[in-house]
Amino acid sequence: MCGIFAYSGIKKNASQIVFNGLKRLDYRGYDSWGLGTVVNSQIMVEKSIGKIEGVTIDLPPSNIAIGHTRWATHGAVSNTNAHPHYSTDRSFIVAHNGIVENYVELKNHLIEKKYAFHTQTDTEVIVRLIEDKLTHTHDLISAVRSAFVDLKGRNTIIILTKEGHIIAARNGSPLVVGINGNEIYFSSDTLSFAPYVKSILVLENGQMAVCANSKLDLLNIVDGKILEYVMEKNTIKDSSVHKGKYDHYMIKEIFDTPHVIDQVIKQDKHELHVFTKALQRARNVYCIGSGSTGVSAAQMAFYLRAIAKINAISLIGADAKEFNDMFTTNDIIISPSQSGETADVLEVLEEARKKNIPIASYVNMPGSMMTRLSDYKFMTNAGPEICVMSTKIFVSQLAWGYLVAKTVTGKYDEGIRNLKNLSQHIKSYLHDARNHSEIKSLALQLAHKKDIFLLGKSQNMQIIKEGMIKIIEGSYIHAHAIPAGDLKHYAITLMEKGVPVLFVFSNDQVKNDIINAMHEVKARGATVIAISPDHEPGFDEHIRVVDTNETSAIMNIIPLQLLAYYMASSLGHDVDKPRNIAKSVTVK
Ligand code: GLU
Repeated sequence: MCGIFAYSGIKKNASQIVFNGLKRLDYRGYDSWGLGTVVNSQIMVEKSIGKIEGVTIDLPPSNIAIGHTRWATHGAVSNTNAHPHYSTDRSFIVAHNGIVENYVELKNHLIEKKYAFHTQTDTEVIVRLIEDKLTHTHDLISAVRSAFVDLKGRNTIIILTKEGHIIAARNGSPLVVGINGNEIYFSSDTLSFAPYVKSILVLENGQMAVCANSKLDLLNIVDGKILEYVMEKNTIKDSSVHKGKYDHYMIKEIFDTPHVIDQVIKQDKHELHVFTKALQRARNVYCIGSGSTGVSAAQMAFYLRAIAKINAISLIGADAKEFNDMFTTNDIIISPSQSGETADVLEVLEEARKKNIPIASYVNMPGSMMTRLSDYKFMTNAGPEICVMSTKIFVSQLAWGYLVAKTVTGKYDEGIRNLKNLSQHIKSYLHDARNHSEIKSLALQLAHKKDIFLLGKSQNMQIIKEGMIKIIEGSYIHAHAIPAGDLKHYAITLMEKGVPVLFVFSNDQVKNDIINAMHEVKARGATVIAISPDHEPGFDEHIRVVDTNETSAIMNIIPLQLLAYYMASSLGHDVDKPRNIAKSVTVK
């Protein structure tokens, strides 16, 4: 995943600017960080493993620097493997976001040619390959172009030379350029430099940006042709990120939920109608996402089927490729995403785009590739989500999916009323301290269990999956979401005394099925914890939520998110940056 940030300009504290930029990108990976700058025609690098927060750097003043936060894919988390990586003669350094899928083949070839490798990263292959190309071309830009086209996979690189030039090339992983007079910024996302730039340029796949003497050139990587470009106005006003009075971003972002639902309510009505007309005409609708967004995509598909009677199928990003040959121009793909840069989903969308298959996206990060690939572009407008575990964006995606389904059936106004009601109830729930103490005490019990089961059905099936994801991400405890209807078919063997089972349900037509499953589990001695509007005999613990009717499943996710939060914090985990994961998964 990794984050790339660079600065070239008039200010003398380039390293500090880049360092601050990296802090805003560390949601993309926090295994290690590193940056390089040029002082008296010499490149100086500082890097370290671990998180960047609370660290200070010690690089001399200069007006150019590049930096990187790493989420290790190839090679252990170590200082040596941290980016940027020097060329052998120290004339340039390289930082990289992506995976060089053919790195073994390239590396073997370079070893045969007697190139020495000092790290275990795939990135070093890029460095040596450029060196090898240089022996033929003697021109760095041509060498980088030629090396870059040999790389398989989704890769973006940034290079700093001792002459003080920056070369960046994109094929897959995101890269945005921002300009303010004669200051040029590069970053993996727009938000990280939004306060400082007047205009932006999103690099397309196959493009290279060269920054020399405060001038920016855009090139086509394959043939080296100089490309005309038009900078877009930077319209992002609010990119502030503060925890405010909260201990963690996660809890702050859960508290943002009512506001986020209000943003869904404010979605452009006309655009929604245009889109829902297209949905009505579609043969199949495919909702695609990964991780928590895979779950929200599935809930969107559920709403489209259950409410709008549309043939909607959900796919997780990593598997959606199998459907490439099945997508037709009579279908619509819906792709929700926080970053709009999820690699496995993008790969599917790029193929779909080539075949003119209509795409709709619902993205939080402005200027993303997913939005650019879409015919129907919807923005979440939820403000930055900093905690790596998604909470408010997940709810926003569900609320949007619900509103889309209601609009298809001609019940837009009712949908809006129901979402307003939901937003109010979530607000009251979150601001009632008794709910927090109830969930905290449950969290303390569950935080020391080995396994936690979650059972649900129909509208709550994806809710228990998301509850499972949140518990796994935050607590590193094994959680397992089981369709209540499947309990008897296999999972009942695991039910025994002391096993905690969370039942999540609503006052709907499957309520009795869940109650039956609850008794079956209880008969085997397991502990029954229910999240539901009403109390039923047999509960060992009950987390009561208000019945918000059609949006009840969305209400149910709130106590699960709080549970995951209090479990993770009671265990002393880094709540906002759980181990081993990163937020924006731009590698496959
Ligand atoms: N493959 C590179 C490494 O492991 C970059 C990783 C990434 O972009 O996530 O160092």
